[in-house]
Amino acid sequence: MEEKLLYYSTNLKTKKLGFRDALLTGLAPDRGLFMPERIPKLSAGELSDMATMQYYEIAHVVGNKFLADEIPSSDLLKLVKDAYNFSIPLERVYDRKYIMRLDQGPTASFKDFAARMMGRLMQYFLSVQNKKLVILTATSGDTGSAIANAFYGLDNIKVIILYPEKEVTERQRKQMTTLDKNISIIAINGKFDDCQAMVKRAFADPELSYQELSSANSINIGRLIPQSMYYIWAYTQLADINKNENIIFSVPSGNFGDLMGGLIAKNMGVPVKRFVISTNRNDEVPVYWQTGKYKTIVPSVNCISSAMNVGHPSNMSRIVALYGGIMDEIGKIHKEPDLEKMRQHMYAVSLSDETTRETIKSAWANYKLLLEPHGAVGWSGLHKNFTIHPQDGTADQLSVCLETAHPAKFPEEINAVLGFDPDLPESLKGLDDKTENFEKLDNNYDIFKTFLKDKF
Ligand SMILES: *Cc1c(COP(=O)(O)O)cnc(C)c1O
Repeated sequence: MEEKLLYYSTNLKTKKLGFRDALLTGLAPDRGLFMPERIPKLSAGELSDMATMQYYEIAHVVGNKFLADEIPSSDLLKLVKDAYNFSIPLERVYDRKYIMRLDQGPTASFKDFAARMMGRLMQYFLSVQNKKLVILTATSGDTGSAIANAFYGLDNIKVIILYPEKEVTERQRKQMTTLDKNISIIAINGKFDDCQAMVKRAFADPELSYQELSSANSINIGRLIPQSMYYIWAYTQLADINKNENIIFSVPSGNFGDLMGGLIAKNMGVPVKRFVISTNRNDEVPVYWQTGKYKTIVPSVNCISSAMNVGHPSNMSRIVALYGGIMDEIGKIHKEPDLEKMRQHMYAVSLSDETTRETIKSAWANYKLLLEPHGAVGWSGLHKNFTIHPQDGTADQLSVCLETAHPAKFPEEINAVLGFDPDLPESLKGLDDKTENFEKLDNNYDIFKTFLKDKF
């Protein structure tokens, strides 16, 4: 039997933990992010067996590779079957170019994949230990609703979500505030950065340490394993596995958690020819690729692909770690990674809002392909890559662009470009008739802290 898989912190100043403890801790005490010390492999045989599997069965095989030390396989099977009860369409657009729609979950965003599994894993470990946990998270929209829905009704977990009162859309707000039970939503009279700062202060506050506080945002290791599974799904459903066909993925990226999932899939054995890192005008990573100098963007630039308005992706420290370097939480590089190899494996490109809108328009005109702004950044990035690397753009080269949200989440942008409103998926219907529950607080840490102490 192999030794138990442990998780190290990217800042290297925390002792290694098993998956359960890394999951429940969230951010490592040295402010680094947890990473698996080795990445388990999928054999060629295991990959080809997956060609006829359902999604949850693939999730089970992949999950077992990481979690077998900590969860019996039969319990994990129940958990993934319950988490992944929706479809993951792979839509052919032309030649061997596909869109993978990750928008069929309960909040119509790809964040459902990670949130649903993470919620169930946390619940599983807490009930075994008979423990309780408070999840505290700040959101600019999509993470909050995915977490709220995924954790809704779980017995051992209370969830508190802070959002900037004026920075989320009505639809995003209603996806969070129409739940109740163990979910508390707080509107803060401030910006996303203010919410984030309050959450960080609460985690570091000794007066609140009587509570088991954890976070569920993209820094949590519990998000990465589920986010590797749909890459493996796409590959095994579309590729000629026996010929070891390779694949290109384009990933619309903000905090780079999604891309990290892809890199895990590659390291497990999926023959990825190239990842296209498609960003909006927050181009700190494409610039790093070009110049070798990493510089965060403060404040981040507002773009229509709003979930990707990130000027310093926290998962960069994981990517740097994967390529042998060390980057701390503020983006300072302490040891250079193998940038040449990173450039070979990944092409990074920044797209403007204008290009994003043109892409929504041309995809619809040419292929009746309906994209929302994030997916349009990905689709456009894929084609930029084809002009830079013409060998990637041949008709028989398998390529998949991830569509990370449902177009109906962005009706204003789509209507402005295409002149119609996208149809609502089942998951977004009926929100208007539900009652909303939320608290409003001033942007003031002491008020927030008093609130936490009174209520929890
Ligand atoms: C969060 C999000 C992204 C960015 O994902 P990262 O993992 O942060 O790179 C892209 N699109 C949508 C719709 C999102 O909600």
